[in-house]
Amino acid sequence: MIKDSFNRVHDYLRISLTDNCNLRCFYCMPEEDYHFTPARNLMQAEEIKSIAEIFVSQGIKKIRLTGGEPLVRKDVKKIILQLAELPVNLTITTNGTRLHEFADTLETAGVRSLNISLDTLQSGKFHLLTRRDQFEQTFQNIRLMIDRGFHVKVNVVVMKGINETELTDFVAWTKDVPVHVRFIEFMPFSGNHWKSNKVFTWHEMMEQISMHYLPVPINGDVHDTAKKYSIAGHLGTFAVISTMSAPFCKGCNRIRLTADGKIKNCLFSKDETDLLTAFRNGEDILPLIEANILSKKKELGGQFTADFSHLHAEEIANRSMITIGG
Ligand code: SAM
Ligand code: SF4
Repeated sequence: MIKDSFNRVHDYLRISLTDNCNLRCFYCMPEEDYHFTPARNLMQAEEIKSIAEIFVSQGIKKIRLTGGEPLVRKDVKKIILQLAELPVNLTITTNGTRLHEFADTLETAGVRSLNISLDTLQSGKFHLLTRRDQFEQTFQNIRLMIDRGFHVKVNVVVMKGINETELTDFVAWTKDVPVHVRFIEFMPFSGNHWKSNKVFTWHEMMEQISMHYLPVPINGDVHDTAKKYSIAGHLGTFAVISTMSAPFCKGCNRIRLTADGKIKNCLFSKDETDLLTAFRNGEDILPLIEANILSKKKELGGQFTADFSHLHAEEIANRSMITIGG
């Protein structure tokens, strides 16, 4: 069992498969001329499997594949099918653009739940956010995966002045479609144009939604990052991920492994432990994993607090989101 010094059991591993992506979301990927990590520096398929097995032997029960965009990696099918052999709940976070090519593989691998990112229901705004014209494909793929029986959660990063006026449109979508929308507070990362006044908080979101609907809180699990709500007569639900205004670090059970094989014990952790180099040198990586998790800070990587009004993104020592894996 992997425990930190606050007695939090860590049984959920998020593996980033790549820092490459076919979209260019400005809040995630800093610049157009961003240099992707060369393939040789990434964990190879067999390395991912062996490292994941070590984590599973220590009590990891859930694995989420992420990135960058996990579905742009050439050997992603092989990786998915290899990890499907482990006794874990396997899932994935994707921008959805390529899901039509992977629905069969995900089904074969026993993946039942997907997180798909879509920050706007307007095609023009999609281009503004992602610098690519993939709204129709993404939207169609969300529908496709729902129709094929997957539990689909849609991640929406909410930013003031960009898409905060669309919350009720997203909630309206949940009426006749069994889709689970999750509004995420905008988080600061290296080079992502974050400003405290662009954060649209959980309370602001609830205020806006409550003007049109009567949301009823749904009881959650201690590890939940999302505060969930239902609305009478709606097939879907919505939730808020309030990382900034009401962090949920107390119940954190998550470990992140970057595509270049480094452990991050928190989305905002400053320190990382290089597992891949040690693994390639034939070292036992278990002591490295244990030491890394024991050094985990109580909240938000020890870098800021929920009182973020005076925070500047540059004060946080971290990677950009695309190189961490959300
Ligand atoms: N490419 C995949 C995708 O877009 O879903 C997986 C990787 S992406 C980094 C994982 C999640 O992080 C996405 O839902 C994305 O919207 C979210 N994300 C990225 N940057 C963020 C930020 N600055 N604040 C909040 N969420 C962010
Ligand atoms: Fe790519 Fe996902 Fe980041 Fe957008 S949020 S740039 S889709 S990795």
